[in-house]
Amino acid sequence: MKEEVEEQGGSVCSQQYFFRKWRMEMSHVTIPKVNRFLKCDICTKLKSCLEKTTGREERQTLLQERESHLFQQK
Ligand SMILES: [Zn+2]
Repeated sequence: MKEEVEEQGGSVCSQQYFFRKWRMEMSHVTIPKVNRFLKCDICTKLKSCLEKTTGREERQTLLQERESHLFQQK
């Protein structure tokens, strides 16, 4: 995440500050302990649609949907 922000010309606070802020203001945001890469409902739905869909244009639409969904999640 740090690299990504810096690549876009942003400045990054120290890790210490980040964790302090997180604890104080964003403590409701947590990383799931079981699997931090757990997929959400939309991901799961798009994936199963992709597996079922054979039409080229339909697949393209689904892939685009997934891409914009993943982008939002970042
Ligand atoms: Zn998702």
